[in-house]
Amino acid sequence: MQTEVARTDTELVTNDTVREAVGLLQQGDVVALPTETVYGLGADALDPDAVEKIFKAKERPHFDPLIVHLPNKTAIEKVAEIPDEIAKPVRQLVETFWPGPLTIVLPRKPIVPDIVTGGLPTVAVRQCEHPIFHRIIRNFDGPIAAPSANLFGKISPTSAQAVLDQMSGRIPLVVDGGACARGLESTIVKIIPGENKPTIEVLRPGPITEVDLKKFGKVVFPQKNVDVEESAPEAPGMLANHYAPATPLRLMEKPEDFVPESGTRYALLSYRGQPKDGFIDLYPWDEVAVLSPGSGRVAEAGIRFFHVVGQLDQLNVDEIIAEPVPDRGVGKAILDKLRKAAVK
Ligand code: AMP
Ligand code: MG
Repeated sequence: MQTEVARTDTELVTNDTVREAVGLLQQGDVVALPTETVYGLGADALDPDAVEKIFKAKERPHFDPLIVHLPNKTAIEKVAEIPDEIAKPVRQLVETFWPGPLTIVLPRKPIVPDIVTGGLPTVAVRQCEHPIFHRIIRNFDGPIAAPSANLFGKISPTSAQAVLDQMSGRIPLVVDGGACARGLESTIVKIIPGENKPTIEVLRPGPITEVDLKKFGKVVFPQKNVDVEESAPEAPGMLANHYAPATPLRLMEKPEDFVPESGTRYALLSYRGQPKDGFIDLYPWDEVAVLSPGSGRVAEAGIRFFHVVGQLDQLNVDEIIAEPVPDRGVGKAILDKLRKAAVK
């Protein structure tokens, strides 16, 4: 299969691309689409044969469920049940964060095929904020299942080229909507009813942070890492080994922990490139990449994370040594990816 890349840089070109993408979705094909988080592999969420093509293209195990993107807020009722006990916080989260990078796990309706939810009684839903995605789903006028457009376990693509690097020959079309504004996958939450206020369980940390969420309930981060061999995890983004570049990557909690081996070529993935953090002058690194140069901003590091790791991965070093990033805000999501990328 030849993979076409369709641009969206002028109104006319965008119209053609939207039409082409919607046509492919309607005929049960898979299309790579830009979102504000990372590029997604989209297919008609209500057509099991179309969704099967996502699993094939990604080489993804079937127990790993997909996020369902909605054409508008009210479409939530089509695919999910909203229990009365959590109706208020769900409404508040939807009103506050949609369209945007927040995915909510809710009991599913029977219309959602098993293949989408990995057989779980729940479905993960969100409304995407990217203008091109929005036009495509509005024209398609139905839910689109869209996990990240990478091979299973590999790093997520934040540009059309990065999609092509992994998906060329596997899918008919990549819609090029530019670099992703957020650069990290959506925050996934589950809401548990409570006496005074609900508990918001963050199943996968992402661009919507604890500070954003805590107005709406007690925010908790369950620390369960599940191995691929085990049964279906509640949020497979929680799989222990995930987001891995081809080059081995190690998160180094402290500079003293780094013991170089002779003859090994090391790259440093630095948070902000500051000598006072203890890494940059620690060793004559063969390559150095900095996520957020200067005083360091976790949000900026998040936007650039997959792109920078992808670049380091192409430089023929033997190992990538990652400095820790602050464990706050979007930093939590970056640390989560670094820890999972490091598991072998
Ligand atoms: P991806 O976009 O590739 O990260 O894949 C979508 C992710 O959504 C999965 O890895 C899960 O973490 C999550 N997800 C999808 N459906 C559910 C669900 N019903 N319950 C919990 N998490 C889900
Ligand atoms: Mg993914």
